[in-house]
Amino acid sequence: MFPIKRQAGFALPMQVRKRKPEGVWCLEQITIAAPAKINLSLDITGKLENGYHTLDTIMQTISIEDKITLTKTGREISVFCDHPQVPAGDGNICHKAAQAFFEKTAIEGGVLITIEKNIPVGAGLAGGSSDAAAVIKGLNLLYKAGLTQREMCKIGLKCGADVPFCVVAGTCRAKGIGEKLTVLPSFAGVYVVLVVPDFFVSTAWAYENYVLDSTVEKPRTEELITYIRSRDIKNTAERMANVLESVTAKKHPEIREIKNDIKKSGACGSVMSGSGPSVFGLFENEQKARIAYSVIREKYNRSYLALTIDGGIKQWQN
Ligand code: ATP
Repeated sequence: MFPIKRQAGFALPMQVRKRKPEGVWCLEQITIAAPAKINLSLDITGKLENGYHTLDTIMQTISIEDKITLTKTGREISVFCDHPQVPAGDGNICHKAAQAFFEKTAIEGGVLITIEKNIPVGAGLAGGSSDAAAVIKGLNLLYKAGLTQREMCKIGLKCGADVPFCVVAGTCRAKGIGEKLTVLPSFAGVYVVLVVPDFFVSTAWAYENYVLDSTVEKPRTEELITYIRSRDIKNTAERMANVLESVTAKKHPEIREIKNDIKKSGACGSVMSGSGPSVFGLFENEQKARIAYSVIREKYNRSYLALTIDGGIKQWQN
């Protein structure tokens, strides 16, 4: 059917273009990047009757990316992933995303989805949500469905609260349960050092255990946006705050230790991402970030040096 390249026991279809009978090239397969996100700020503003919390958060796409390959098939949706903690088949969020796409567009099609995981799983970096967004955007191209970004966000919201942001990506403020998005001026090109501790944090647990008291540092979101707008890395980093840190760091004091280590290594500021446990710092320039990264990686196995990036669909670059 299509050529298969074997990588560590994982079947990965190559880029395929098929010539239509009338001589027109038609896209049969696409390989795109699904980037992770960090939260520059996260505030919980309320709780809805259905149990969902409402947020006010600034999200930023970064350059740690999963590789998603979509191949047109008859009517079936199948999903394979090379990571042992990520389910294949209909347990994967990408299956849900593809199903929602075909339902919304009424296209009678199918897709084989392969995921090469580079984003740490269950780390507060929206790996699953970004994969789902990549599937919706990729299918829109592959099947020439002509969906608008707003329509893709609506489909995405059926799969998860972070998916609409991952459809838009870049730098955004998200309110409601994540569906009310405002695109902010680009904050791309900022160096990030990120640490993923070895323990797991359940997103549901973190939200359920959040209690607002005098010890919780609330982000001043409007002020933060002013500094993002003027690309003031130092003041942005100094004002980053995440209310869920009060929950996660109470159970896992290592979070505070990592924050301090990142700050001591030269970051302008450091904060936990999402419900954790990932912690990151922002740096004024590449040199400072590289020096810090070389120090941090000595102590923490899962350390990353990344860049903030803009939104948009990006073909995978090897
Ligand atoms: P968020 O920041 O949106 O809360 P997260 O980064 O904490 O998400 P994910 O990496 O998205 O967490 O994974 C959460 C769970 O979802 C995992 O336990 C995993 O088994 C499951 N999952 C289903 N599909 C995927 C996928 N495509 N990628 C990653 N995890 C997936």
